Amino acid sequence: MSSSTAAGRLVILGTGGTIAGRAERASDNVSYTAGQVNVADLVSAVPALSASRFEVEQVAQVDSKDMGLSVWQLLVRRVAHHLRQPDISSVIVTHGTDTLEETAYLLQRLLQPIKPVVLTCAMRPASALVPDGPQNLIDAVAVAQQAQGGVSVVCAGQVHSALDVAKVHTYRLDAFDSGDAGALACVEEGRVRRFRDWPQGGAAPVDAGELERFLSVAALPRVELVTSHADSGGDMVRALVAQDAQRPVRGIVVAGTGNGTVHRDLKEALDDARARGVRVVLSSRCAHGRVVPHPGLAYDHSQGLSPVKARLALSLDLLGG
Ligand code: ASP
Repeated sequence: MSSSTAAGRLVILGTGGTIAGRAERASDNVSYTAGQVNVADLVSAVPALSASRFEVEQVAQVDSKDMGLSVWQLLVRRVAHHLRQPDISSVIVTHGTDTLEETAYLLQRLLQPIKPVVLTCAMRPASALVPDGPQNLIDAVAVAQQAQGGVSVVCAGQVHSALDVAKVHTYRLDAFDSGDAGALACVEEGRVRRFRDWPQGGAAPVDAGELERFLSVAALPRVELVTSHADSGGDMVRALVAQDAQRPVRGIVVAGTGNGTVHRDLKEALDDARARGVRVVLSSRCAHGRVVPHPGLAYDHSQGLSPVKARLALSLDLLGG
């Protein structure tokens, strides 16, 4: 199943998710098993894609709630491999929606691809009466053919950048949002209509050392995520730091309230953790906005990254030592 477009070959890598999910009844959009249908079958089931042929590869078959280092390493390797081929113009990745924003961030940070890498997904399983995966796949192909580079996410006719995208809805087909930045573009009948500048792949030199370290480690530096809330305390952080674990905690990302404020009892424990060498990074639990820096901020802020992306970013930072 390999062929080309005028611009070059397109590769579709499957990793599982709801887009490849199956339920017992076609009317059931929630109690299904993710990661059941292989990516070759997903692609060949879409008549609109039959005119073009793609190279397809099943990289993994997981529910993305279970995403972890080994699948990420495999995926990064395969994406990098395909991007290096001169006759391949872009790579599409089918992925579950639950942790898609983390994988998108990871691919952008590690690869900063000059060619487009497009992640897509679905909120309804492949077995649904009206599945959304086929249209998302069609739109992802359009974006892969028309984008310039960088990692983007296509869902429900919207195109998001890897840095800004977040899953914001549990059920709606249009489950992703890019907050203040807004979507990059939308796809209308196969045409990509841009709203803002496309983040450029290759804008900064890829840190080859970081990529190598990521690909060779058996475990990422352990970074935990805690949330500040009313009636917060420091016990969880103290327990984490006291743990005599195989993988000791090297960093903590705190999803602070509002503009990065932290409950005083939690802050006391975080200050102690920091004094013991644990890196503490501050993000916000607010759905929109970023921590706006000011001299009173208790810790380094996450540079606009959401708590889950800041967690991954800190773990990658710590890979460097
Ligand atoms: N749990 C599924 C996954 O992330 C949800 C989805 O794909 O929509 O793989």
